[in-house]
Amino acid sequence: MNLRVSKWIYMLAAILVIGTNSIPASAKENFTVCIDPGHQAKGDPRGEPIGPGSAQKKARVSSGTSGVATKNPEYKVNLEAAMILKELLQAKGYIVVMTRENNDINISNAERAEVANKAKADMTIRLHCDSIGNGGKSGAVLIVPSKSSKHTASIYAASFKYAEFLKKSLHDHGVKVNGIFERNDMTGFNWSRVPVVIFEMGFMSNWNEDRMLSDKNYQRKLMSAVTDALEAYNQTLE
Ligand SMILES: [Zn+2]
Repeated sequence: MNLRVSKWIYMLAAILVIGTNSIPASAKENFTVCIDPGHQAKGDPRGEPIGPGSAQKKARVSSGTSGVATKNPEYKVNLEAAMILKELLQAKGYIVVMTRENNDINISNAERAEVANKAKADMTIRLHCDSIGNGGKSGAVLIVPSKSSKHTASIYAASFKYAEFLKKSLHDHGVKVNGIFERNDMTGFNWSRVPVVIFEMGFMSNWNEDRMLSDKNYQRKLMSAVTDALEAYNQTLE
């Protein structure tokens, strides 16, 4: 093969390789997402400071809720959804870091935030399910770090921006969203130097929603909404 032809083949191959990466040209390259599936098989009630230098302590990790209909533990549903999200994001060329990939582990909320910090992630998605005494309550809830907390003031804007994209994306996927709420007492927020959103995917205290939350297709729908929102968010970055 002469030099000229091989050069063309080389260029064509390069175009094909670039073409398989679906992250838009305007978006940030090597966008890294940390996925934190909430809780673990056994909670750890030992205390840890709720933020760097804080005297206030909370359990390293709580045990989470369980389904009123399915009896499934929340930690298991959170991990199932997380593994789907990992697959969807990797298929689109994102770099994914997981805080855990199995249920029999002991990793505190501060340690989970450190995983994202160390990876210099661009966004952390914390997956949880809700529970409340009222069995009629349903829908998703989005939680972001507080804008007025010294720990999280610097990550508030980006976290809230992503939460707004996620709210819209969930609406577009036909999922009800109860709202975006700020919290200043979340260890996993206060230790995070990475923008972060808690996605409470639905209420396990609601008979129908609990069953949906354990359904693979519904989990995939929710995680598609998360993925679409990350794409929209990423396109606003350099
Ligand atoms: Zn939870």
